[in-house]
Amino acid sequence: MAGKMWAARFHEARSPLRLEEVTVPSVGPDEVLVRVEACGMCGSDIHFWEGSAPIPSPPITLGHEPAGVIAVVGVEVEGWREGDRVAVRAGAGCGQCRSCLAGDEPGCPRFRVLGMHIDGGFAQYLKAAAASLICLPDAIPFEIGAILTDAVATPFHAITDRGGLKPGERVAVFGCGGLGLHAVQIARLLGAATVIAVDVRAAALARAERAGAHHAIDASGEAPHRRIREITEGQGVDVALEFVGSAKTIGQAVGSLARGGRAVIVGMGVEPIQLPPPNVFVWSEFQVIGSFGSTRANVESVLELVAAGKLDLSESVTARLPLAEVNEGLRMLHTKEGDPVRVVITP
Ligand SMILES: [Zn+2]
Ligand SMILES: [Zn+2]
Repeated sequence: MAGKMWAARFHEARSPLRLEEVTVPSVGPDEVLVRVEACGMCGSDIHFWEGSAPIPSPPITLGHEPAGVIAVVGVEVEGWREGDRVAVRAGAGCGQCRSCLAGDEPGCPRFRVLGMHIDGGFAQYLKAAAASLICLPDAIPFEIGAILTDAVATPFHAITDRGGLKPGERVAVFGCGGLGLHAVQIARLLGAATVIAVDVRAAALARAERAGAHHAIDASGEAPHRRIREITEGQGVDVALEFVGSAKTIGQAVGSLARGGRAVIVGMGVEPIQLPPPNVFVWSEFQVIGSFGSTRANVESVLELVAAGKLDLSESVTARLPLAEVNEGLRMLHTKEGDPVRVVITP
């Protein structure tokens, strides 16, 4: 499909994305062209824009949470047709190497992330590997399909595959923005006995409570790990999820762990972290674990929960903006104006 389209392109950190008219990409044999209906804006986009997570080779079209309709199907693609509704997973591997076959796509030497290594979804059309597509049932709106792949599947991966949450365990969520709010919902859904939300913004805490958090701690006023110990009768939590990426919050997350507890770091950051002395680790058998993105199985699990009406994402999209206002979206997310969960761009 020849022709031109609009795309929001990143050229350099701390300068606005440029709305440019570019050629609609042509697809390879194992790719499809997706007409983008919605693309979520993520905390990572802020990191790219600020330069705290560098874009390897700009310029590039940002946006790694797209959903839309297949417009063109590559000649070797099987199982997908023009007109199919899809969400596109942000990261995809080759699908053939040892890592990919073991379900660990980020370990693939050819792993690429949309809107970081290759052009993403802040555009009218997006070229995507057929292997990265997720079928979106008619009942799930595009904007929900868009945010599922990252904002919901990423905390799901952190809680299940990395944190190993078991029913009846206690959970603390540090940072209740886009990912953290969904972490609260998922932890409840998976049977956590106690879910404690920690943030410095009253609106984020109130929303976390509406989403099912049993306790909300305003970390601007008190040391959250001490309050967590009080709530848990001195024991601490089994899983502490960290979505901020700062040394301070990671320290608090580790400081709130019970014996055998797991602190899962999802927030990106560059500060070195301070940990308790080895004796504490040995005695208490703590784990500090990193968690990146999600697997295809995670996205499919989340999709099933939403389709079955178990996971309600109706509060998750807090603003919808046309492509021309993409920089306004970045600004809203950066300043946290209106307490955004997810800002969605509708090209
Ligand atoms: Zn993201
Ligand atoms: Zn691979």
